[in-house]
Order: sequence, then C-alpha cells, then structure tokens
Amino acid sequence: MLSALAQAFRNSPKCVALTGAGISTDCGIPDFRGDHGRWQDIDPMDVASIEGFEADTGRFYRFWAEKFAAITTASPGVTHRLLAQLEQADLLKAVVTQNIDGLHQKAGSECVYEAHGSFRRATCLSCGHIEEIEPIFARVQSAGDGRAPACRKCRGRRLKPGVVLFGEMLPESFAKAEYITKHAGLVVALGSSLQVHPFAGLLEKAKVRGATVAIINREKTPYDGLADFVIRGELSEVVPALEAELGL
Ligand code: NAD
Repeated sequence: MLSALAQAFRNSPKCVALTGAGISTDCGIPDFRGDHGRWQDIDPMDVASIEGFEADTGRFYRFWAEKFAAITTASPGVTHRLLAQLEQADLLKAVVTQNIDGLHQKAGSECVYEAHGSFRRATCLSCGHIEEIEPIFARVQSAGDGRAPACRKCRGRRLKPGVVLFGEMLPESFAKAEYITKHAGLVVALGSSLQVHPFAGLLEKAKVRGATVAIINREKTPYDGLADFVIRGELSEVVPALEAELGL
C-alpha cells in the first residue's frame, strides 16, 4: 500500500496534503478528538467559538494557556518535515492545514494555507494592537487570577488570537486552497478526524473531479469509504516508511 502511495506521489500532478491536529500530537500539542483529545472534558463551544470567547475571555485563555502552551515552543515532527521535503522535491504543490500551530512553516514548507488561521499572534479587538501569543500566555500564567490578559496598549481585555473560531468566517485564502485541492491529482489527508467542515469536504470535492485520495490516520474517518488508500496507523511509523518508499 505504501509503495503504491509513493508511486501515486511521483505520478500525480499537483499533489496536495490536508493536515490536522494529529500530525502535531507527537510534538506535544494535543488534538481535539483523538482518544486523549481535549474535547473529552469540555464543551468546544465554550472555548473555541466566537460566542464563548466574547462571553468569557478569561475562560478561553485559561483553557488555551493551560492545554496548548506547547504551541509556542513545539518543534516540527516527522510529518511536517516530510511535507517540506516533498515540496522541495517538487512532489507536493501545497499544504492545506487545519492546524493553528505554525509548525509547517517552521519545518520549511512555503506554500501553506492555514484554513483556521494561526495562534502565533493576537489582535486587540478594541484598539487593533497586535502582539505575539507567547508573552500573552506568559501573562495569563503569571497573573494566575483567571482573568483575560490585558492589551499592552489600551489595557482592554479583548485580545483575540488570529484563529478562526466556530461561528467565524474562514480566511479569504481558503477559496484558493479549495481551488488548488480540487485540481490536484493526489490529495492526502494526514492526522485529521475529518469532522470539521468545510475543510473535510475538500477531499470529496477533489475525488469528484478525479483526484486519487489517500487518508493516513490512527483511527477511522467518515471519508475512508471514498479513499483510494486508507492507511491506519501512527504517523511516527507510517511517515518514515513512506519516506523510505519515496527514496527521500
Ligand atoms: P482532530 O483532533 O479532530 O483529529 C485528529 C485526528 O488525528 C484524530 O482522528 C486522531 O485519532 C488522529 N491522530 C492523533 N495523533 C495521531 C498520530 N500520532 N498518528 C496518527 N493519527 C493521529 O483534529 P482536526 O481534524 O485537525 O480538527 C481539530 C480542529 O482543532 C482543527 O480545526 C484545528 O484548527 C484545531 N486544533 C489544532 C491543533 C494544532 O494546531 N496542532 C491542535 C488541536 C486542535
């Protein structure tokens, strides 16, 4: 199966990778829906929707600064590195990611569409001041009072990270990502539960237009039935094996 997938990479024009939180779990950033994911004990609408952010910004930051502090310090893993290598070798046209951790760019990928934005920086919704997320998390943790962090410029408490929360529009660049994915010869989804739309629907749109579709994940996804290749396993094992098949 892996050698056939490697062959498809070599033979298909304009391959696109769709990536999800599962490619960063080995880097210390938890996913949401995996067995140890963060949705087990919290309502996603409280901490990942625009309504939840507005209703209780302190709760939003308590969740993210505690559970996702690694976002600011993590290094890329095997999957990020493979995709950067594939791009360099002209075997991959683009990465479309649901991830907000910036690890594709850290690994050296250049053509990256961040469908859900990024957690790198936050913008103050009151005065427009932009700040890196790392010092913001540090302020949340050192204050320890559970309140939302204050903007360094206007002292308001409405610093919103540059991520797309439930209830918000996707970035304009998503239309371009959709176009590129629809016209790809091979689309490979890695480490995504494929439950969040419209991202998950990209796979079906590409398949309808004739793309070969592959899914690599440790558990079942709703799109396994339409895929030409379903590889179920740990990315830490599957990716090095695929890399070897590709001769990279
Ligand atoms: P998800 O949490 O819904 O699904 C992750 C999938 O990856 C699960 O099916 C899980 O079983 C699988 N997985 C986890 N670790 C794996 C491994 N080592 N090997 C193989 N499979 C593995 O993630 P999603 O589909 O990306 O949706 C989550 C949403 O939350 C996204 O919209 C994203 O914006 C956000 N999110 C991002 C990050 C991040 O940037 N790293 C982390 C958590 C959540």
